[in-house]
Amino acid sequence: MTALPVYRWRLAPDGLATRRQLRAMGLRPGGQEVAAQLERPRRRRGPLVAYLYRIDRARPVRPMTPAREAALAKAMRARRVCPVCRQDRGYCIPRSLGMCPSCHDQPVAA
Ligand SMILES: [Zn+2]
Repeated sequence: MTALPVYRWRLAPDGLATRRQLRAMGLRPGGQEVAAQLERPRRRRGPLVAYLYRIDRARPVRPMTPAREAALAKAMRARRVCPVCRQDRGYCIPRSLGMCPSCHDQPVAA
């Protein structure tokens, strides 16, 4: 195995990320080799080492499953339903109005 480039903590070049950082982006290393390593010096002990992976070679954590797709569709539908008239407007309710434009334009019934 060839020696990996070693970077100081927080000085990692762009395009590389730790497994944890990839995970936060919804990615996983996806079988690629470690591209570099980070070392954070610690007192009286060996440095803390983290392995870096190339972001451009990372893969999505998992492919879209029917259950995930349904959950996503449900979330999107919730954003399309006006909280005032309870109708699916077919588009996202503008956050600035908090209701569909037709409700917004109607005078409030006193
Ligand atoms: Zn409405």
